[in-house]
Amino acid sequence: EAKGRGKNTYFYFNVKMQDAIKERTYIENKLIESLKYNNFEILYQPIYDIKTEKIASFEALLRIKDFNISPAKFIPIAEKSNLIVDIGNWVIKNVVLKIKEWIDLGIDVKPVSINISVKQFVDGTFLNILKEYINKFNIPTNLIQLEITEGLLLEKNDYTIQKLKTLKELGITIILDDFGTGYSSLSYLTYIPVDKIKLDKSLNDKFLKRESIETIKNIIGLIKSLNLLVTAEGIENREQVEILKEIGCDYVQGYVYSKPIDSERLSILLKEYNK
Ligand code: C2E
Ligand code: MG
Ligand code: MG
Ligand code: MG
Repeated sequence: EAKGRGKNTYFYFNVKMQDAIKERTYIENKLIESLKYNNFEILYQPIYDIKTEKIASFEALLRIKDFNISPAKFIPIAEKSNLIVDIGNWVIKNVVLKIKEWIDLGIDVKPVSINISVKQFVDGTFLNILKEYINKFNIPTNLIQLEITEGLLLEKNDYTIQKLKTLKELGITIILDDFGTGYSSLSYLTYIPVDKIKLDKSLNDKFLKRESIETIKNIIGLIKSLNLLVTAEGIENREQVEILKEIGCDYVQGYVYSKPIDSERLSILLKEYNK
């Protein structure tokens, strides 16, 4: 009996692995196709200034049109297959073009955050594309924010630090995303050139409560003592917003204010906003 079960487990495991490979191949093909047929779409999620409760910036979030799959799933596959370089460049080009469009429409554009994955950053071609597009369309660099993750900083190498410095010298804002999900050694905050920190949803879910207000207050206090600005991500209710106000957080991003929206709705929102 035990032997039989062992066999079954082995068989089941194999089938599961095959399914995973099939799924990965399927998504990979979907990504290649989406690049080829321009089937990606960028949604924008507003980020609010906590004091004024007005829009301070947006985060660009990638989607595949008519395909209900989270970037949390397809971005890691894009990274493994190296497609992230082309996909990332597509995102950069399209965000810059959108900013240009808003400027031409006379809209008071806010800075836009673009997520840059580790592999894309290390590859480095994004920097030339970004510079080329910024120059071509005469985009003020303070409208561009790049979100990087801790993974990039684990290898404390000069290349990364140098690239980040170059970006900052251009006037681009650097944001450390997903803070609180990895090792979050606070020591690197003292030597990496970043401007803002984003507290991850998981951290906020855990600590953004009355009973643990001291913990989250200390985390924010520490970040602020390094002269960095703090955004809290994944905020879904008013209670959390009130706590964040009390403890000196700078920006809020979450469903409590808005989900990611398409650029048409955003254009309307911005036009209304400027009246
Ligand atoms: P992220 O950069 O941490 O982005 C924030 C994620 O939290 C987004 O998920 C956003 O929709 C979601 N979110 C914001 N507020 C709330 C909330 O109140 N409740 C809940 N439940 N979720 C909230 P999304 O759009 O699914 O993206 C997932 C991840 O995929 C991103 O996490 C980012 O790591 C990656 N990603 C998305 N677009 C790109 C891209 O263009 N390039 C790269 N390299 N990665 C991207
Ligand atoms: Mg992000
Ligand atoms: Mg994040
Ligand atoms: Mg996240």
